[in-house]
Amino acid sequence: MVKQLSNSLAHTDVSKTLHPYTDARAHERQGPLIIDRGKGIYVYDDAGKEYIEGLAGLWSVAVGFDEPRLVAVASAQMAKLPYYHTFSHKAQEPSIRLAEKIVGMTPAPLSRVFFTSSGSEANDTMIKMVWYMNNALGRPKKKKFLARNRAYHGVTVASGSLTGLPNNHTDFDLPIIPVTHLTCPHFYRFAHTGETETEFAARLVAEAEAVILQEGPETVAAFIGEPLMAAGGVMPPPAGYWQGIAALCRKYDILLVADEVICGFGRLGAAFGCEHYDFTPDIMIVSKQLTSSYMPLAAVIFSQKVYDAIADNTAKIGTFGHGFTASGHPVATAVALENLEIIEERDLVGNAARMGRILQTRLGELSEHPLVGEVRGAGLIAGIELVSDKKTRRPFGAAGKLGAMAFVAAQNHGLIVRAIGDTIALCPPLIINEDQVHELVARLSDALDDAA
Ligand code: PLP
Repeated sequence: MVKQLSNSLAHTDVSKTLHPYTDARAHERQGPLIIDRGKGIYVYDDAGKEYIEGLAGLWSVAVGFDEPRLVAVASAQMAKLPYYHTFSHKAQEPSIRLAEKIVGMTPAPLSRVFFTSSGSEANDTMIKMVWYMNNALGRPKKKKFLARNRAYHGVTVASGSLTGLPNNHTDFDLPIIPVTHLTCPHFYRFAHTGETETEFAARLVAEAEAVILQEGPETVAAFIGEPLMAAGGVMPPPAGYWQGIAALCRKYDILLVADEVICGFGRLGAAFGCEHYDFTPDIMIVSKQLTSSYMPLAAVIFSQKVYDAIADNTAKIGTFGHGFTASGHPVATAVALENLEIIEERDLVGNAARMGRILQTRLGELSEHPLVGEVRGAGLIAGIELVSDKKTRRPFGAAGKLGAMAFVAAQNHGLIVRAIGDTIALCPPLIINEDQVHELVARLSDALDDAA
């Protein structure tokens, strides 16, 4: 699909920019899809073509693409106080109110909030907080992280090290922090023949324990995981996995970090992924649906125990030497507060549960399709893995070529999805209604027929 780059905006794009997560040379040939405006779950390109935004932007626009209340709040805050920082005892009302709101929504024992602008920055902040805390507690050797293969935790030098995807490491010389990537908890791909889900979960927990014992529990600081692994291919954990991991963390005094950047604020049909899977983290990372991505904002949420260790140390040193110019930005936090109010008032978490059940059932029907190996997900997030042989689960190879074809076919049918190798990821806005779920599945089904 080579597009004529007669459009001067497209020409400027290919001649002046480097796009994130894009094959730059392919982009020079085919040019951008320029999205011009949004309405509800739909976006429109510069030629006026309509698309269902089947990935809610980047897994993030909960309230849809034209929510006037967020525009009004942003504009009012811009007019009143467009910027103020939170360094050196300074504060402004929106970030205080948002911290209070977030603490009220998150499960105990989470009770403190530190703001950043992106999920990657939040994970970097978390890593530094954990290290700082363990130094303060007089256990300087307790610094290592446990993460999983195919995990996604960001792209900065430290958070990118926690990420467990080859294209985030290769030629970037990552990882550079001490991290062990454990087996990806994806049953369909990594369970042994004949293993049940529970046996698979128990094997992965035993693997984690063996690594902890081999490294020395006194050197392992934290385990980080997305409750449901999203950007690596939409992989829900096997039953019992999180309970086993949480018990291990308690046993060896290891902090459990739930990276809820995608799962948080309703995606799985529960307020948080850790609630859906019934485990309690010591630290939680949120972003994306926090503001519906209308403004960049993320947060590290942590327990009083973590706070006290850090706070006592700052009293000794005189300051906590970490923070960003935009930490707690007043426009971003004002927008987040309004966005969370809307999510509550419109019961979008309940809607995600209800529409999620319909979406998962309808997608389940696609399991019969000759290309589809597995349909998986929870709430309003799903992955459809394409295979060249349903029986042997043989992948298509050639690094996601079929996934890429299905992605283009979906776009032709007015549906934006994400191709992760040969897995098609879906993650529509939380406001989606039943008719729109059926429309989304119909467009996807047509795209799969085209790709077959
Ligand atoms: N953590 C998770 C679970 C994510 O999915 C992402 C982004 O997709 C990040 C962290 C990084 O967030 P950002 O892209 O805002 O740096």
